[in-house]
Amino acid sequence: MRTRVEWEQLARSVEPRRRAFIGGAFADAADGEEFATVNPATGLVLATVARGKAVDVDRAVAAARRAFDAGGWSRAAPAHRKAVLLRLAEAIRAHADELALLDTLDGGKLITDTTTTDIPGAAAILQWYAEAIDKQYGEVAPTARADLAIVTREPLGVVGAVVPWNYPLEMAIWKLAPALAAGNSVVLKPAEESPLSALRLAELAVEAGLPDGVLNVVPGYGEEAGQALGRHPDVDAVAFTGSTTVGKLFLRYAGESNMKQVWLECGGKSANLVFADAADLDLVADRAVFGIFGCSGQVCSANSRLLVEESIADELLERIRTRAAALRVGNPLDPSSTMGPLISERQLERVLGYVAAGRVESALAFGGNRLHEAGGGYYVEPTAFRDVPDAAVISREEVFGPLLAVSTFRDEAEAVSRANASEFGLAASVFTDSLARARRVARDLNAGTVSVNTVDALDVTVPFGGVKQSGFGRDLSLHALDKFTSLKTTWFAGPQEG
Ligand code: NAD
Repeated sequence: MRTRVEWEQLARSVEPRRRAFIGGAFADAADGEEFATVNPATGLVLATVARGKAVDVDRAVAAARRAFDAGGWSRAAPAHRKAVLLRLAEAIRAHADELALLDTLDGGKLITDTTTTDIPGAAAILQWYAEAIDKQYGEVAPTARADLAIVTREPLGVVGAVVPWNYPLEMAIWKLAPALAAGNSVVLKPAEESPLSALRLAELAVEAGLPDGVLNVVPGYGEEAGQALGRHPDVDAVAFTGSTTVGKLFLRYAGESNMKQVWLECGGKSANLVFADAADLDLVADRAVFGIFGCSGQVCSANSRLLVEESIADELLERIRTRAAALRVGNPLDPSSTMGPLISERQLERVLGYVAAGRVESALAFGGNRLHEAGGGYYVEPTAFRDVPDAAVISREEVFGPLLAVSTFRDEAEAVSRANASEFGLAASVFTDSLARARRVARDLNAGTVSVNTVDALDVTVPFGGVKQSGFGRDLSLHALDKFTSLKTTWFAGPQEG
């Protein structure tokens, strides 16, 4: 691993792509406007980027539609799409340092995370879908003997992908990989906080052999480029990851325009249930700390509620406190940092607002302060509140920051019903050494993913997504292909048997 000084030197050689990518080439916004993307570690402007608006989304959708209709991608043999996407996965690996630096500088993510998780993860997911796509078979339906009905999967057409900033490249790949593998054209709108890696990715995709117009990237603000994509009459589906509030807007956009399909991965308030029969409290504490302070808590499935059985609550909280105190909050380019900044000043204010609310409604266990680093930036201490009532704001609302709400329970039934008393249902965890309890609790928890004796279990092989207001539709696994294909039935009428 390089030193901070070496990463800083390398960062100076990275040249951010600053224009939209439409129809296989970089392009300014039609009106020439730009917006600034800021480095969260310093608060300084990193680059100015084309500010895409409705007219630019129109150009991108038209390019995507032309590419789709031309058939060079949409009708190509799956083995051809596989070969191109495998080349793109290799290109991501070949440019791993550059892409990792872009996500670290633009998103404030630890370089130790972007180099080990985000970028290799993005390449691996792309490779997985590339390798899967030429192994998908259709069906022959069990009709009456004289007839023949075949069921095939077809690409939808033009897919809009709108993604957040917490894993800039990886969230984009979660959508792009299955959508492109299935033969769709895509218009991607990265978050305005972190557009840079997506722009570089689009360029690499064309170099890897993706036909012009199959992948377009329109950076810009949510209310402008995001809304235009959501309302566009020629977009067949939108796959969105972001907040529940904006997810609901996409449902409205679709209803008020062309009834495009909408797939939503939204917020969460994941509960972590720890029973007194969990023998290894050190493991629990390690996982709990990772589950809420990893990525500075800016993770949709962050374990932000810790429900712990009364008899072990003090001991567990003490172990969590010790580990949180050992975290090194600091510049994300420094490999010794173990927690980086929040994404923006707005997010910092939001998190500090929740800290203030927590002080009123419950007891501060540790943390709670903004940290002032030498270089500026948006840092806050790992923070926990204890004895948090279920009705408290920090128990109900998604903070999206390093803030843990701890409360205690007396028995299993209480733990499960309180965990489920949330408008979200993205993920949950349970720690217990009883297999019978693990199975009962996992069955009864209302969440898309339940992790047993770990937190945030995730892999490309398993579906990820939520229930309730965490959204619907699944990313990852072969199930993600369901979102980006439609089933076609072709019925060959048999001869009338007389
Ligand atoms: P956000 O909803 O504000 O933004 C997400 C995307 O939507 C961005 O690209 C943004 O530009 C766009 N957008 C914003 N307003 C819009 C509008 N009016 N119309 C159209 N598009 C608009 O979310 P965020 O702050 O970037 O990310 C944090 C949220 O994302 C959290 O709630 C988190 O839980 C969620 N998230 C969910 C998952 C998941 O898989 N479930 C993963 C990561 C993040």
